[in-house]
Amino acid sequence: MVHVTRIVIIGGGPGGYEAALVAAQLGAEVTVVDRDGLGGSAVLTDCVPSKTLIATAEVMTTFDSSYEELGITVAQDEAADAAKVIGVDLGKVNRRVKRLAIAQSHDITQSVTRAGVTVLRGRGRLGGGGQAVDGSREVLVDAPDGTVQSLRADAVLIATGAHPRELPDAQPDGERILTWTQVYDLDELPRELIVVGSGVTGAEFAGAYQALGSKVTLVSSRDRVLPGEDPDAAEVLEDVFRRRGMNVMGRSRAESVKRIGDRVEVALADGKVIEGTHCLMAVGSIPNTAEMGLEEAGVKLNDWGQIQVDRVSRTSAPGVYAAGDCTGVFMLASVAAMQGRIAMYHALGDAVQPLNLKTVASNVFTDPEIATVGYTAADVECGKMDAVVVKLPLRGNPRAKMQGIRDGFVKLFCRPGTGIVVGGVVVAPRASELIHPIALAVDANLTVEQVASAFTVYPSVSGSTAEAARQLHIRKRVEGES
Ligand SMILES: Cc1cc2nc3c(=O)[nH]c(=O)nc-3n(C[C@H](O)[C@H](O)[C@H](O)COP(=O)(O)OP(=O)(O)OC[C@H]3O[C@@H](n4cnc5c(N)ncnc54)[C@H](O)[C@@H]3O)c2cc1C
Repeated sequence: MVHVTRIVIIGGGPGGYEAALVAAQLGAEVTVVDRDGLGGSAVLTDCVPSKTLIATAEVMTTFDSSYEELGITVAQDEAADAAKVIGVDLGKVNRRVKRLAIAQSHDITQSVTRAGVTVLRGRGRLGGGGQAVDGSREVLVDAPDGTVQSLRADAVLIATGAHPRELPDAQPDGERILTWTQVYDLDELPRELIVVGSGVTGAEFAGAYQALGSKVTLVSSRDRVLPGEDPDAAEVLEDVFRRRGMNVMGRSRAESVKRIGDRVEVALADGKVIEGTHCLMAVGSIPNTAEMGLEEAGVKLNDWGQIQVDRVSRTSAPGVYAAGDCTGVFMLASVAAMQGRIAMYHALGDAVQPLNLKTVASNVFTDPEIATVGYTAADVECGKMDAVVVKLPLRGNPRAKMQGIRDGFVKLFCRPGTGIVVGGVVVAPRASELIHPIALAVDANLTVEQVASAFTVYPSVSGSTAEAARQLHIRKRVEGES
């Protein structure tokens, strides 16, 4: 009898469903257990909804920041500012957001079931008792009707994601004090929005609501917004935010948020109190790893409750793998999916390349966008990577001039001797699309000479990438001779 490997995946986000597809293609018998719907938070509450909201914000920004310069006229009554002639129906935007999210979850469910995967609705956890004699493990599924089902698996993948962190003195009420999963229930645009937290999520929402027409205050506990990103990129964004009228409060830690009628009050650690109509809390996330029988099964967690994994997604418990936000490795949908696939390649004996975080491309969906790949300025500064750096402001790029783009740059990092491209940053509208050639160069160990020799379209913003590569070629020659 042919032995078919039984795989049970707990969590149906990108970490889980991408793994399920790979495992089914490799001939395993696959079951996915999910609580909320396939696609996970990525599709239902986080990534897809926020980027759909931002699509509307982007149109507003493009119009607002370029109509005068590009010669567009708007029929308007005399008193009104042209930018205010267009507006946003937030109820309609949010209905579109939810519709798209549900449709995408539905599409994923269809493709997963078409691949032969069994999908169970419910809460999954590891059964007690560790591994059986045959090496299998038990997964228990608490179904919505209260029944409990027991499954046996030769390998289990935990891909349960994470949820928004809440502060004890800033409890969300879903109306005025909100997490990022609750904003899509709003029917009207917040008039005065206070965003607490200036990491990627806080910055994206602050920029989006500012563009949609809210008066935004961004409360950042650090010196500048986006403390984890390239400092030059963060400076450009903070400058743009302020120019557009956002109140960016640096070095301000929010201690509590109170709702008083239809208003909110945010108390800061220095004693100041700021007021608004709504407050969005974006202060990080907590992995969904509690009460899942993990530690009892020998799965090690760190102090933040994240599952410890190696580069092929193995946990400390044999036969148990983990992927995605519950591991805290690099909280991106693309990384979750890659970790999930790698786990299945490993579990099912296929060829496997360990996870390489130095080739991950990521993007902050603000305006301008900030896209990054490979080694960073911080890596160069702390001596982790020896690299030559060139930064070209987009102000000098012909296409950018034609399009009225003033803010942004292309930055490339290469090794001093070989000229191999090891990283890059693009700050520009649609930087998420412009980073791909740099990501390819980093992934394939291309040299600046190879990047410089490829044709770019004239005029194009990506011409600046080739120009940066040409300048790096000269710079490394000069530095090599001196
Ligand atoms: C606002 C926001 C915007 C983002 N935008 C982007 C972006 O643009 N690009 C990007 O790459 N990343 C983005 N991310 C990050 C991205 O959403 C996550 O990295 C991604 O969702 C991780 O996927 P996952 O599979 O680990 O978990 P999730 O997508 O969270 O899926 C986990 C699933 O497991 C289920 N689950 C949890 N516990 C159990 C249980 N015990 N039993 C059964 N099911 C369970 C959950 O209900 C959920 O369905 C964003 C995050 C946020 C907060």
